[in-house]
Amino acid sequence: MQNTASFVRIFLLLLLTVIHRLGFTADPDSLILTRPGNLPILLTVPHGGASTVPNVPLRNSGTTVTDAYTLETAEAVAKQLERALGAKPYFVAARFSRKYIDANRAAAEAYEAPAAKPVYDAYHREIARYVAELRQRFPQGALLLDIHGHGDAPDVVHRGTRNGATVAALLRRHGNAALTGPDSVPGALAGRGYRVFPPNTPPGNPPEHRGYNGGHTVHLYGSGGPAGIDAIQLELGRALRTDARFGVALGDAITVFCRAYLAGEVAAVGASRAD
Ligand SMILES: [Zn+2]
Repeated sequence: MQNTASFVRIFLLLLLTVIHRLGFTADPDSLILTRPGNLPILLTVPHGGASTVPNVPLRNSGTTVTDAYTLETAEAVAKQLERALGAKPYFVAARFSRKYIDANRAAAEAYEAPAAKPVYDAYHREIARYVAELRQRFPQGALLLDIHGHGDAPDVVHRGTRNGATVAALLRRHGNAALTGPDSVPGALAGRGYRVFPPNTPPGNPPEHRGYNGGHTVHLYGSGGPAGIDAIQLELGRALRTDARFGVALGDAITVFCRAYLAGEVAAVGASRAD
């Protein structure tokens, strides 16, 4: 009799474990795509995910639209960087849909149900961990690129730095050319024939587009703050996100920037790889 009772108890326990594994409870880490790298570059993608978040209802307010193909574009950029520089960038992307959590907002606006908190926190914990690592590993500078999609002119790239504030360290060290010159990321894109706004004029003149001038992520982790790194939000028109050549071009533009402004840091990567 006693044996039967413990058998039933064990069976129920196993059943509960299986139900848990099946996803009736959210496993925050499974909803985040995260990979450490060797380059002084961190790519973040908050709005490209499509996964539901278990036990979390759809958000009733705020923007809920997916930035289609931003995850694919960012992966193409990572691949091109590895091809050109022989090392991988750091990478953090949301697999979860913006319908449940907006990872590029402060917590108060990002989600409505408490069950979403561990997933939101997991996304930002990964970025914060990599930013801290990049600061230590690359004291001369590192760059976060937050990849988005906009629905306006389909062939335009919008730069978002809060008019220079999120790249304060870069501008201090290298001047405006590091953001708008021919070897900057937007400058190298323009050099490859892409339309960039603002059109690589000095920061603030004209100002960045109000809707795309840099959100929570670049503000929080940008070098305007004491614990940040340089951070640029890139808002990509739809035609760019659906054209495989653009991911390659953006990877090449970041490579140009790395060789011009992070040459020592990239060389250090090469030296450590040769060990
Ligand atoms: Zn977005």
